[in-house]
Formats: sequence, structure tokens, C-alpha cells
Amino acid sequence: MSTTLVERLAAIAGMTHVIVDPDVLAARSVDWTGRYRGHADALVRPGNADEVAAVLRICRDAGAFVTVQGGRTSLVAGTVPQHDDVLLSTERLAGIGDVDTAARRIRVGAGVTLAELQCSASAAGLLVGVDLAARESATVGGMVSTNAGGLRTVRYGTMGDQVLGVEVALPDGSVIQRQAAAHSERSGYDDASLFVGAEGTLGVITAVDVRLHPVPAHRVTALCGFADLESLISVGRIFRNIETIAALELIDGRAAALAAEHFGLPVPVSGAWLLLIELAGEADPTGRIGDVLDGVPLCAEPAVGAETATQRRLWRVRESVAEVVGLFGSPVKFDVSLPLSAISTFEQQSAALIRRHAPTALPLLFGHIGEGNLHLNVLRCDTPQESHLYPEMMKLIAAHGGNVSSEHGVGSIKRGFLAMSRTPAEIAAMRTVKRAFDPTGYLNPAVLFD
Ligand SMILES: Cc1cc2nc3c(=O)[nH]c(=O)nc-3n(C[C@H](O)[C@H](O)[C@H](O)COP(=O)(O)OP(=O)(O)OC[C@H]3O[C@@H](n4cnc5c(N)ncnc54)[C@H](O)[C@@H]3O)c2cc1C
Repeated sequence: MSTTLVERLAAIAGMTHVIVDPDVLAARSVDWTGRYRGHADALVRPGNADEVAAVLRICRDAGAFVTVQGGRTSLVAGTVPQHDDVLLSTERLAGIGDVDTAARRIRVGAGVTLAELQCSASAAGLLVGVDLAARESATVGGMVSTNAGGLRTVRYGTMGDQVLGVEVALPDGSVIQRQAAAHSERSGYDDASLFVGAEGTLGVITAVDVRLHPVPAHRVTALCGFADLESLISVGRIFRNIETIAALELIDGRAAALAAEHFGLPVPVSGAWLLLIELAGEADPTGRIGDVLDGVPLCAEPAVGAETATQRRLWRVRESVAEVVGLFGSPVKFDVSLPLSAISTFEQQSAALIRRHAPTALPLLFGHIGEGNLHLNVLRCDTPQESHLYPEMMKLIAAHGGNVSSEHGVGSIKRGFLAMSRTPAEIAAMRTVKRAFDPTGYLNPAVLFD
């Protein structure tokens, strides 16, 4: 990288916020799983939207590629630079506005973590509609850019549903604001939604107006064990249509057993498949859970928690899966969205496919069953990089009516599979939009498109 570009970046963000130390750059050029690595020439940490815009303009004019980095929890290598890029980190876009309790909204910088946002919402007696296990690191900007889902999607929708406005630095170095104070707005394109799920290909989100929700007066959590996946899905179908549903999570019984073995985690129910159900509303929903489960063939009495401490213990079983998947090194991850009717067959056929490619591997299936939004993680998978497991699994997902990316996005890993979910006309339209915003294709060049 030319000294001139580094100097110009430093003139914008300040000398201490432009880093060229090779060790720092190497650490920033690897993905969350440690599987995918790239190379960057510099890291820049602009402190506000104007600085972000100026950094973009300078990089574009210098012909430098830019990769945007939020919390770097992407599970599709969305932040791995592939062209000796400038890494643009949003970590200094960390401002947190006051909660507007009447309008139930808050304006935060794109680099604010989900945990920080949750803290502010909670202090004002409100909650954030999206929650996920990476909350301590995942940023609001990253979550909007990937249209993150997670543990509460069944109730509140995805991150895109929480966006009331955005501030974005565009690839041409201009800044746009869509943060109308008035609730209703019909004056042309819904530009904010254009950046939802764009994975940083159209601009850098610098701030977000986030919708907040009232905290329900009552909450009850239950953990149930099932002998087979089909029975669990039948029960899931009923719960997902109940108005007070707050979470509906599938846990692979093998993951729970590993959590018990390796972390000493108490798992209060047995079963090949576990279902975590949470209902929340203004009236106590405990009876409703009992009514639905009455007569359902469970492996044991369900564990039910109406108090926070018990609820936390039950949730710990679900949250421990994130640690379990790392027990044997970096797993091969598939982010699968399937019709509920296809999940059981998919589970069997995917297990058979994995056995063929990696006989000693251990598949674990878990996730947000309410939306058929699942994570298949293959542990102890020692197949070589050139193995056909990945493409064959993608084909199997598509054959079951599934989507190649249910919530993690396309990133750089799934670029080659976009056509499994999108028609040629849709991809062409997306490319047209990308070209209009970023004609030279310098922003997040490794993401979304081949
Ligand atoms: C343990 C764990 C659990 C997870 N659980 C879930 C889950 O339940 N649901 C779910 O949806 N995801 C989940 N994820 C994936 C990940 O947390 C989400 O994709 C999250 O939205 C990424 O946020 P981030 O700030 O880390 O973004 P990054 O990883 O930094 O970036 C993600 C993408 O967005 C771009 N980007 C980042 N910030 C901006 C910005 N300000 N403007 C424009 N582009 C930007 C990046 O270039 C990249 O392409 C999980 C990840 C982990 C590690």
C-alpha cells in the first residue's frame, strides 16, 4: 500500500486509527471460525459518518479495495479481505442515543454491540426484538447488513423488521440519512431497506434507528425431550402459531449430552431432540404450555420455569450449543432454511451424506425451528478442502426446498451458490443495483457476488 494512501487515511481518522502492523492485520484477516483467512494492507477506524465517507472516497480514488468489519462474527467469512484490502472497522461508531420511550426507538452507532443495545433498552424498560448468541460482539451495523435473525425472530421478526432508519456512507463518499421522525413516510424508495441484508456491498451503515418493544409482564419457559424429530416438529407447528410465542428452539440431544459431559451442564430432560419453548404475554401463559403439551408423547416430564433463575438454566442448555460446536476444532457449518415438512427427511439424508464423506464426523442440528431456520454443524469433520461435501449438501438443501442461507448471509463462502436461491433475473437486478452504487466494485468485493 502506498505511503500516500496511509497518510491520507491518517489525515482523516487520526494517526492512531490507521494501523499497518502485520500482526494486527493478520488477526483481523481471519474469520470467526478460524477456517478462512485473507490479507489486508491497512486497518482504519473512522470516528463518524463523515470520516467513513471520506475514507471511502479516498480508497475508491486510489483504487484500493475496502472490506467493512463490524463485530466480525460473520459465519460466512463476510469480513475476510481477499484483495490486500483496507479494512474499515466500525468500532468507533459507538454512540448510543437516549431511548425515546414514547416512540419506542433508539438511535445508535453502527459499531454498538447487541449487548450494549440490549442494556440501554432494558434500562428504559423495553427490549430489542433480535437476540443471538454472539450478542457481546455482533454490532448493530453488522446485524442490519446481514438482516440477522436469531432467538426471537419467531416473535419479533428479523433485524430488518427493527430498522426505523439508517445513516449510510455510500461508495461515492456521500452520506444519506433515512431517519424520519414521523412514523409514516411515503416519498419514494424505501432506501433504508436497501441496505438490509446488503452485506456491506452498497454502503457502510454508520447509524441505525432501532425499534424497541415493551417487555411482556409474564414469561414462561419450558424444555421438552422428544424421541424423534417428527414429533417435535408437530408440536413446534402448534406453538409457532400461538400469539404469545417468544422463542421456539430446537436442540440436538447429542449437543446437550456433550454440554453435560464437557461443561458439567445440568440438562433436566432427556431425549434425542429437545425443544425449548417460551411464551410471553400480559397474562400468565403457563397454562397454555400445559394445554398444548397435554397428551404429547414426551421422553420425560417437561422442565418448566416461570422464574428468571430457572429460565436462565433452561436457556443455558440452548446457549451451550455455541460452545459445544467448537469442542473438536472448527466445524463445517451449514445455515439451512427448510419447510417444516422437509426437516425430518433432510436430517436423515444429510446424516447419510456426512457419513459417506466423513465417517467419523458428528452432525449436530439445532436452531430456530419456528421458521425452519436451522444450523447444521459438522463436528470432527476432517474432510479436505476439495471435498464434495459442501456442494453436495447445498444441493440436498435446495432439493428439500431449502434456502442456501437462512440467516447468516452469503458472505464469501456462499457466493457460488447464490443461484440456488435466486433466479438469474433477481441476481441480474442485484448486480445492477451494485453497479449503480459502486461502479468500480471496490466495496466488499469478496462478498455476495462471484
Ligand atoms: C456464536 C454465534 C451465534 C450466531 N447466531 C446467529 C443467529 O442466531 N442469527 C443470525 O442471524 N446470525 C448469527 N450469527 C452470525 C453473526 O453474529 C451475524 O451475522 C451478525 O449479524 C454479524 O454482525 P457483526 O457485527 O459481527 O458483523 P460482521 O461479521 O463484522 O459483518 C457481517 C457482514 O456485514 C458487513 N458489515 C458489518 N458492519 C457493517 C456496516 N456497519 N455497514 C455495512 N456493512 C457492514 C461486513 O462487511 C460483512 O459482510 C452468529 C454468530 C456466532 C459467532
